[in-house]
Amino acid sequence: MAYTVPKLIDYSAAALEKAAGECVAACAAEAGEVRTDADLKSYRDRWMARKNGILTQINDIWLKGAPKEAKREAGIRVNELKARITELVEKAHVAGDDSQAGASVDISLPGIRRPIGAEHPVMKTMHEIVGVFQKLGYSVAEGPVVETDYYNFEALNFPLNHPARDTQDTLFIAGQQSKPQRERLLLRTHTSPVQIRTMEKMRPPVRIVIPGTVHRNDPPDASHSPMFHQIEGLAVDTNITFGDLKGTLDHAMKALFGSSVKTHFRPSFFPFTEPSAELYVTCFICGGSGKRGADPCRPCKQTGFIEVLGCGMVDPMLKYGVDDLQYFFQGDVRFLEQFG
Ligand SMILES: [Zn+2]
Repeated sequence: MAYTVPKLIDYSAAALEKAAGECVAACAAEAGEVRTDADLKSYRDRWMARKNGILTQINDIWLKGAPKEAKREAGIRVNELKARITELVEKAHVAGDDSQAGASVDISLPGIRRPIGAEHPVMKTMHEIVGVFQKLGYSVAEGPVVETDYYNFEALNFPLNHPARDTQDTLFIAGQQSKPQRERLLLRTHTSPVQIRTMEKMRPPVRIVIPGTVHRNDPPDASHSPMFHQIEGLAVDTNITFGDLKGTLDHAMKALFGSSVKTHFRPSFFPFTEPSAELYVTCFICGGSGKRGADPCRPCKQTGFIEVLGCGMVDPMLKYGVDDLQYFFQGDVRFLEQFG
């Protein structure tokens, strides 16, 4: 019969010894039954899988179930047992394949070299940007990539049928039709749901920077990808003005692109900020002249500026206080039903 992890009632040294011995014997016996590569894989998974493998179960059942006074001794025993099981599993191989067992070692063969890794350029840039804001006292907030409609849209004041829901070309998870709209799952189209998740947990002042991957239904080409990265920041405090936003972003751009870079804010529209602006920095290629020698500078379309981000003052969120008493008396059902 296949080995299962027994519940321990007796935590005496002798009982632990016996339980450990049975476990090792079972592990060794199963190693002997490995015939194919698939067997080997399922054998390894059965014993070592982080989620519900036998070692994990032993940790959960024996160690966590141990009475207080037996914890130390049980911990030592379980660690010894883990080492023995790990060794057995690592040594296990498909029967008949004796290449790992007994063959003499050819020391003239070149060694196994692990190539040295390097940070992916996207991650490197994310870390640089996050680092600039951390130095300003912002902390990092993260959230799930698979989000509910509520956090991705509704809580950010995109009601059903809001045009912004179309422009974002959302990728919905299949088979959600039976759920209420707000509980349906989707791949988040922006990192903004983390603003809501953070504000639910934390009282102001809030200063966070939110890095992460987002998804939109864009076919991949040179300037689009169905998966891409965003970073957004949020500051909530008393007496924060648009001047703080400009100063913070001007500082961040200088820290990222060099102190000579100039910033330029151009009024814009975003669904959850008012006023909103696009931020431009002087072109890194032509330095703002719009020309490369006698030729026009193409990356900035000869304007001397490149758009780097969107920003604005977050609309007062109804969840956190209504800023105009009149809303209560105008009879707008869309407003009132949010409290229903
Ligand atoms: Zn340029």
